[in-house]
Amino acid sequence: MKRYQLHIGGKSSAPHSGAWFETKNPFTGEAWAEIPRGNELDVDLAVQAAHQALTTGPWAEITATQRGALMRRLGDLIAEQATSLAEIEVRDNGKLLAEMQGQLNYIPQWFYYYGGMADKIQGSTLPLDKKGYFAFTRHEPVGVVAAITPWNSPLLLLAWKLAPALAAGCTMVVKPSEFTSASTLELALLFERAGFPPGVFNVVTGYGAEVGTALVEHPLVAKISFTGSDATGRVINEKAGRLLKHTAMELGGKSPNIVFEDADLEQAAFGAISGIFAATGQTCIAGSRLLVQRSVHDEVVKRLIEVAGTARMGDPMSVDTQVGPITTPIQLQKVLDYIDVAQKEGATAVLGGRKGTAPECGNGWFVEPTIFTGVRNDMRIAQEEVFGPVLSIIPFEDEADALHIANDVRFGLAAAVWTKDISRAIRMSEKLQAGTVWINTYRAVSFMAPFGGYKDSGLGRENGIDSVREFLQTKSVWINCGAVAGNPFVLR
Ligand code: NAD
Repeated sequence: MKRYQLHIGGKSSAPHSGAWFETKNPFTGEAWAEIPRGNELDVDLAVQAAHQALTTGPWAEITATQRGALMRRLGDLIAEQATSLAEIEVRDNGKLLAEMQGQLNYIPQWFYYYGGMADKIQGSTLPLDKKGYFAFTRHEPVGVVAAITPWNSPLLLLAWKLAPALAAGCTMVVKPSEFTSASTLELALLFERAGFPPGVFNVVTGYGAEVGTALVEHPLVAKISFTGSDATGRVINEKAGRLLKHTAMELGGKSPNIVFEDADLEQAAFGAISGIFAATGQTCIAGSRLLVQRSVHDEVVKRLIEVAGTARMGDPMSVDTQVGPITTPIQLQKVLDYIDVAQKEGATAVLGGRKGTAPECGNGWFVEPTIFTGVRNDMRIAQEEVFGPVLSIIPFEDEADALHIANDVRFGLAAAVWTKDISRAIRMSEKLQAGTVWINTYRAVSFMAPFGGYKDSGLGRENGIDSVREFLQTKSVWINCGAVAGNPFVLR
């Protein structure tokens, strides 16, 4: 079995604990690699390495243009390794190879886009209200960034933090999810091949309560960039608040996918299915609440059952598979518990509703694609994030009703509207409380489009031209050009 090492200061190293834990393949249920169990001593070494690179190492000395060139080289190396990195992710999180290969093919674009931005970070000269001074601003790296990432799309979600952070000149220590650490450790090796100075990118694997906590509390960490559940996000943000650290929080969602009666119903049904079943529902932007206008409710339900009912579960590495396993046994149980809750609340499973036990599921942790009708928006199944292949369908009467139901939830990550009426589409996009609104599409993301949550779905934005600012701090520099200092004790 492959045994991984930590990556600290440009070198692979064994964890201080002397312990490793197994990472398992969700399709076979078998361990395939050993991941180092880092602790606070490893965190300290990694943060010290990142701090040294930031302050005195060659990273601090190279030009922003050179930084951009290194980032583009890294992008090239990721592109070269895309297939093997995608296969590692599938082995760890069980998502379809098509999805992970698509993500890996796309990730280099983050390093090209933000690599190009590295030498375009400019301060400004200030029009002052005082004579005899000249003042300008500098935008400097915020410091050492701790990135804490989840298991569903490990490298893509890391790239959303890493690329703008590097462009800004920051250095980073990453703690990937304990369930999907391997690809991040493999990525670290590419940094050395690309020629990055040691200490710019460090990886300490392990558990949230050990490595995660130590990272959040380390005095030399300036910013915590977190993607994960809102429960963990709250714990981290509270600590970071006490320690006066910068934070960015990309949290969960319960996104409404809203189908009006005038929509292209075939497209809307495909959009609904890709919104919830394509990634086995294990995506923060899962369209887990389908709001359907009552007049077309039955027709939409029929179409969904027809398409989702034929979805093939199976080996996520196989091109024929359409629905893969759930990443962990704990998550499998959580999804099954929510299915139970929904049934007890009075919802009707018109598709699925069980653990996947078909022969093609092997020993994997599967849940059948599940569709509930008869859902009211105040039910737990409509309010809480399931993070699995479970769709709740809620009927609505008119635009006002749709908006009320869509916004009546504590999350606000994404929303979609299916309609041919452009005025309605624009009205809805204004009133939906969500960081992303899609019109007649679902799940589109790009390095160019800001992404983040309203309400309990998070703080800050990733992607887009401005996200580099999230890793910068501004300094004002004042120069005396002839202002005469008078006696400070004399009032003027
Ligand atoms: P999680 O909150 O359980 O874990 C996320 C990370 O935090 C892991 O690396 C974990 O080890 C670490 N962690 C746990 N406890 C910690 C602590 N006390 N201190 C520091 N670190 C700690 O989330 P998950 O189950 O891995 O991921 C699924 C969640 O992530 C879902 O809620 C999903 O919506 C969310 N998510 C959000 C986005 C987004 O961009 N908004 C993207 C993907 C996933």
